[in-house]
Amino acid sequence: MKVKITDIQHFSLHDGAGIRTTVFLKGCNLKCPWCANPECISPKIEKGFGMYISLDELETEILKDEPYYQTGGGVTFSGGEPLLQIKDLEPLLKRLNINICFETALFAGEELVKIANEYADELIVDIKMLNPENAKNVLGGNITQFLSNLDFIDLDKVTFRIPVTKYSLDDTTEICNLIRKYPPKKIEIFKLHNLAKRKYEILEKEFYTENITDAQINDFKNQLKEAFDNVEIIEF
Ligand code: SF4
Repeated sequence: MKVKITDIQHFSLHDGAGIRTTVFLKGCNLKCPWCANPECISPKIEKGFGMYISLDELETEILKDEPYYQTGGGVTFSGGEPLLQIKDLEPLLKRLNINICFETALFAGEELVKIANEYADELIVDIKMLNPENAKNVLGGNITQFLSNLDFIDLDKVTFRIPVTKYSLDDTTEICNLIRKYPPKKIEIFKLHNLAKRKYEILEKEFYTENITDAQINDFKNQLKEAFDNVEIIEF
């Protein structure tokens, strides 16, 4: 069995607890304009981005970092939307005896979400926006699917990760209500960055920017903190 990836990043510090190995799976069913990994959106191999890797090869790469996992780390499957290939990954998930995290937008079928929840020690779940029309037009996703999937995951494994954009700011009240209803382990918010600009040039895609100020980010953080105490601003 093989899966399609774009990269394996060793020594990752932002993708879950401890020092981690992050596997970027190729293919996503959303089209977030600010995506930091635009080369992971198309499931096709394009412009030199993407390769097939067998589960045995992937296991070897992941376990090269095993000594670092004593920090509480492990492997994080990111992307792209890692849940789209989770059935192909499952034989490896079964035999990996390390901490497993999925970084997911949670716009996936219930069956795939349940598999992820079963194997995950940690789940990083993005909250990008909650307005149904914006979710449909800007992300290309069905917000009802995202919301119903929250009922199938163990919240004590969850970190909600929220990009601070005009869309999340517009939906602050709804996001606060959501985190009251689904209290996670912690919440991370982050400002869009331009680290992926070169990849957009290579892919000949338009690079998206917004002018969100630090004051707006702090205000957003403070409003979230009224709904849930453990909110952190992270930087990539
Ligand atoms: S869900 Fe993630 S990988 Fe997919 S387009 Fe959005 S930011 Fe990119």
